[in-house]
Amino acid sequence: MKGAVLYCPRDVRIEERDDPTIVEPTDAIIRLTATCICGADLWPYRGIEAADHLLMGHEYVGVVTEIGAEVKNLKVDDFVVGSFVISDNTCEICQAGYQSRCVHAQFVHGTIGTQAEYARIPLADGTLVATPGQPDPDLIPSLLAASDVLGTGWFAAVAAEAGPGKTVAVVGDGAVGLMGILAAKQLGAERIIAMSRHEPRQRLAREFGATDIVVERGDEGVARIKDLTDGLGAHSVIEAVGTQESMMQAIRSTRPGGHTGYVGVSHGVTLPGEELFLSGVHLHGGPAPVRRFLPELISLIWDRKIDPGKVFDQTLPLGQVADGYRAMDERRAIKTLLTL
Ligand SMILES: [Zn+2]
Repeated sequence: MKGAVLYCPRDVRIEERDDPTIVEPTDAIIRLTATCICGADLWPYRGIEAADHLLMGHEYVGVVTEIGAEVKNLKVDDFVVGSFVISDNTCEICQAGYQSRCVHAQFVHGTIGTQAEYARIPLADGTLVATPGQPDPDLIPSLLAASDVLGTGWFAAVAAEAGPGKTVAVVGDGAVGLMGILAAKQLGAERIIAMSRHEPRQRLAREFGATDIVVERGDEGVARIKDLTDGLGAHSVIEAVGTQESMMQAIRSTRPGGHTGYVGVSHGVTLPGEELFLSGVHLHGGPAPVRRFLPELISLIWDRKIDPGKVFDQTLPLGQVADGYRAMDERRAIKTLLTL
């Protein structure tokens, strides 16, 4: 089968790999229907994270082609959506809703790699969720978004306690930030402030539910959020970048007693203790437990109540994966869908 391998920074190739086979009785093999490139894939692509023959891709939808002897909840030919972290969905951590930190957690990125034709999914019952039937083709981008960016944006909005009567600010206009806006809207937020300086992303932010746009960032961005909230700061702030500047912008934009939901993969972030102590802000985040939200997200997509697939603004065949990485690296594309 064909799959994407990141040889070293900026050198991603499609190469021939062995077809996956059942190893553990809890495994399933899926044939990918579509896959995509994540903003998080850019960290190793840019050399900020180690990149040495990494199997790339952690977002996926597909059809089950084979199951191990102990798989109970899935059958061959099921259409499935999975999370970017393998989970048993039965341990105490999973039962509490934190499947991304399951005691048997394994990241799909780097070890399985779903920018490929087939994938072996361990702990299939705990990781994959079957859709009610075979999806209409136009639903596939949205179901694929649920696998990571929608699930992650949703978790950020939940962690930030977005809801009725709340003003939500979103730091980061990448795919996850945009999905955080969609989630905040679904959760009933009254006002949603998108922080973005890129016109096409501002337009999409408004489509997903943003009511205000702030183009300033850093301290100026914080001052604008305060201006818009009677000097108090937002009730709920979503952080979807992962840098020192974005994290501090998020915390400082949150009012005392408010909530910051942070899901940008943290790189070199150091939090000042004294400022945190005085802020009175709730901080919650981390790798999103997408599996917790998948049944609800699939149902919203299936019933056509949300259309997160609009976040994909480029579609390429898997064979042109390198062009997709370049487009996202240069911010010419928000998110690239790969067809098989
Ligand atoms: Zn678990």
